[in-house]
Amino acid sequence: MNDTDTIAAVATPTGTGGIGIVRLSGQNAEHIAKTLVGGANLKPRHAHYRRFLDALGHPIDDGLVLYFPGPKSYTGEDTVELQGHGSPVVLSMLLQRCLELGARHARPGEFTQRAFVNGRMDLLQAEAVADLICADTETAARQAQRSLSGEFSDRIEKLANDITRLRVYVEAALDFPEEEIDFLSDGHVSNLLGNIIESLAQILANAKQGALFHGGAQLVLAGEPNVGKSSLLNALTHHDTAIVTPVPGTTRDIVKEKIVIGDVPLLLVDTAGIRESDDPVEQEGIRRAEQALASADLKIYVIDDAAACFNVPPADADICVINKVDLSGRATGQFTLGSCLCVPVSAHTGAGMDELKEAILHQLGVGGRSENGFSARNRHLLALSEAQSTLLLSQESFLASGAGELLADDLRTIHTTLEGLTGALSSDALLGEIFSSFCIGK
Ligand code: GDP
Repeated sequence: MNDTDTIAAVATPTGTGGIGIVRLSGQNAEHIAKTLVGGANLKPRHAHYRRFLDALGHPIDDGLVLYFPGPKSYTGEDTVELQGHGSPVVLSMLLQRCLELGARHARPGEFTQRAFVNGRMDLLQAEAVADLICADTETAARQAQRSLSGEFSDRIEKLANDITRLRVYVEAALDFPEEEIDFLSDGHVSNLLGNIIESLAQILANAKQGALFHGGAQLVLAGEPNVGKSSLLNALTHHDTAIVTPVPGTTRDIVKEKIVIGDVPLLLVDTAGIRESDDPVEQEGIRRAEQALASADLKIYVIDDAAACFNVPPADADICVINKVDLSGRATGQFTLGSCLCVPVSAHTGAGMDELKEAILHQLGVGGRSENGFSARNRHLLALSEAQSTLLLSQESFLASGAGELLADDLRTIHTTLEGLTGALSSDALLGEIFSSFCIGK
C-alpha cells in the first residue's frame, strides 16, 4: 500500500475516439512528461500544447499536457495528463514511452487507491468513483455523485462521533461509580442511544435504496405451466425473448433478461412452470426454477385468471400476477389476498402493466425520494445491519439491567465497524478486493 513509484495508464476506454488520455502519477511524473515533450518546463495546472516524442525524438502525436503537482491532485501525488488523439495505437506508443522513461503500468484502480492512501478521499468515496463510472441509470449516477462528494461519509462520521460521545459518557460513569448522581439511569444515555439507533436506521434505509439503484434486484417469475410467465417477461421487456406457445412445459430452462423500472436495474428471470413431470429435461428445468426462486429478491407468482380454478398464491409470493384478464374480464387495479399483493394484468393487451411496475417498486422498498439517496454496496449494508443488530440488543439489555459495561463494549465494536466502512480501519485484503474491481487508469 505504500508504493511510491510512478505509475502510468491509458485513462480513456479502449477503441477510437476524439481524444485519448494517458495518465501519470508519482514522484517522476513531471520529469517523465517533460522528457516526453522535449524538456520545456510545465506550469502547474496549465494546458500546454506540445509535441510528444519517442526515444529517437520522432513525433508520436501532438496534444495537451497538464501537470498537477501534489498534494493538490487527484492522487495527492504529482500527476500528469497527456491528451492526444484517441487512437489505440497512438495511446499505446505514448504509454510505452512513459514506461521506457521509468514509469510502471498502473494496476486497476491504482490512481484512486493512491488518492485513498494519501487521504484525498475515504473508502466510501473511492468506491463511489467506481460506482459513478459503472452507473447504469441517471439515478445511480446521481447517487454515486452524492457519495463521492462525501454525503455518505459525512453521515457515517456524524454517527461515529455521536457514538464516541456516548462512549465517553458511559465510560466516565463507569470510571467514577462513587459520584453521587447515577449517570447511567438519568435518562441521558437511553436518549442518546435512541437517537443513534434512529440515525442508523435512516442511514441504513438510504443505503438500501442506494444499493438497489446501483446493484439492482433479481425478479423471478414462477407459476404453473401455461399461465403466461413467458408472455409477461416479453411484455415487460418489450421483445420476444422467451418462447410463448399454448403447449404447457415449453420453457425448460431459465431465461434471463435485464430491464429498468423506475431507474432500478432488474434482472427478470422466467422459469419452467412448476408441476409434476416424468420428463428428465422438464424436471431439471423445475429444479433450476426452484433454485432461482430461493435466491430471488422478489418472487412473482403468475396465475391464469381464465383457468377453471383460481389458485391461491403461495405464502412466499411477493406479488401475485393474475394474468389473462382480457379473457376473464376482471378489472385491473391492485388488491390484497391474505397478505399477498395481487395485480391483475393482461400480458397480451398490456392492461395492468403500469400497476405491476408500481407494485414491483413498492415491494422492493423504493420510495419516491431517490434524490435523497447515496450509492451503497452490499459491504456497507452488511456492516450497517450488523451495527444495527448489536445496538438494538445493547439497548435491550441496557434498559433491562442498567449496566454500562456491555454497552461500552458494544459501542466500541460498532465504532470499529464504522471505521471499516470509511477505510480508517480496513484490512489490506479488503482494500485489494475493492480496488481490483476498478478499471485500469482510474
Ligand atoms: P408460460 O408457460 O407460463 O410461460 O405461458 P406462456 O407465456 O407460454 O403462455 C401460455 C399461453 O397463454 C400462450 O398461448 C399465450 O399466448 C397465452 N397467454 C399468455 N398471456 C396471455 C394473456 O394475457 N391473454 C391471453 N388471452 N392469452 C395469454
